[in-house]
Amino acid sequence: MRRTLYGEDHEAFRRTARDFLAKEVVPHFADWEKAGMPPREIFRALGDLGVMGLRIPEEYGGGGEPSFLYPAVWIEETAAAHVHLGGFNVHTNVVLPYFLGYADAEQRKRWLPGMASGETLAAIAMTEPGTGSDLAGIATTAERVGDHYVLNGSKTFITGGINADVVVVVARTGRTEDRRGGLTLLVVERGMAGFTRGTPFDKIGLKVQDTTDLFFDGVEVPVANRLGEEGAAFRYLTGNLPQERLHIAATALATAEAAVALTADYVTGRKVFGKPVSSFQNTRFELAACATEAAAGRALVDQALVSHDAGELTGVDAAKLKIFCTELQGRVVDRCLQLFGGYGYITESPIARMYADARVSRIYGGSTEVLKTIVAKSLGL
Ligand SMILES: Cc1cc2nc3c(=O)[nH]c(=O)nc-3n(C[C@H](O)[C@H](O)[C@H](O)COP(=O)(O)OP(=O)(O)OC[C@H]3O[C@@H](n4cnc5c(N)ncnc54)[C@H](O)[C@@H]3O)c2cc1C
Repeated sequence: MRRTLYGEDHEAFRRTARDFLAKEVVPHFADWEKAGMPPREIFRALGDLGVMGLRIPEEYGGGGEPSFLYPAVWIEETAAAHVHLGGFNVHTNVVLPYFLGYADAEQRKRWLPGMASGETLAAIAMTEPGTGSDLAGIATTAERVGDHYVLNGSKTFITGGINADVVVVVARTGRTEDRRGGLTLLVVERGMAGFTRGTPFDKIGLKVQDTTDLFFDGVEVPVANRLGEEGAAFRYLTGNLPQERLHIAATALATAEAAVALTADYVTGRKVFGKPVSSFQNTRFELAACATEAAAGRALVDQALVSHDAGELTGVDAAKLKIFCTELQGRVVDRCLQLFGGYGYITESPIARMYADARVSRIYGGSTEVLKTIVAKSLGL
């Protein structure tokens, strides 16, 4: 089906993205995988290209572009190039909205220019060793003492945790009857006394993404580093989760599409019993089934992108979208890998990487099970 959501400007941006990824990322990606993260220079290059701060207002050095369609194009091109960019998506599509939505004038002046140029990398720390899916169970505390908060606790699985210069930490500043109350967003900066990081986790996939523990031992965070109102974090998190889930769903779907294209190409060239693998009916049916699933996902993602730009994507919509696209990604990439035979199991083959990378999509940003509880609630269950 013809896609109708992009115009000529988006397609021009697509060409820029494709060109940049081919020149600046693809040739170095294997080295980055060995290093476990991309080099910092790539974020500055992305800043120069204008993609770090696409949605940051122009007065702070950004592109001033409110639409999510440009990030969506970037997501599609990154998947098509079989690469990813470490904490980039979290910086731009997950953390930035908190700064754009809740930073005051002084904070915007302080942080947004660096976030747009790629000098300042951002992460978000919600998950703790004792609580992941249940955000209301956050135990990291921030006690107000004069003009600062004293932060104690630890966070885990933090994307970009090694590279990050600013970390939006969700901390408990008070206790209310409602467990969701009393949570506050504090920006912890590189170099603050008592703030330390663990070593990067050795993950089964997403090798080019520094994911680690963060520790806060009596960190004095100035009140001037609080984003928004005290006690309002749960509301802020709930407000931004639809975009986080949209970006994960869009990435999952684009990866499934890339897997189908990659596999169609491989089976055409690979010969077994003297015939191309593509000549077997099973291969053709498997890929036809995968392409059909991906087409259904594409219709859903494109509609969600339009809804999100219109400010209409609800939490329930985003939950359904993420469940559908990430489960689809898992099925499609698995079926595609099968068609590669043994070569699909070798880590340096792109389909193997897609398979390993895909697994976490159903876990982070709200696991499939947790999202099903949101959808079930919307059904009155
Ligand atoms: C690579 C990676 C990057 C990440 N990046 C970040 C980041 O940048 N910032 C951040 O804050 N966090 C991050 N996370 C954490 C991620 O969001 C959590 O792992 C996720 O929310 C699940 O929490 P958990 O791991 O504690 O699992 P748990 O909450 O312990 O869940 C365990 C199992 O129980 C199931 N479950 C939980 N609740 C229910 C329920 N009500 N009904 C049925 N089943 C349920 C879950 O679906 C899961 O299968 C990342 C994780 C990974 C792996």
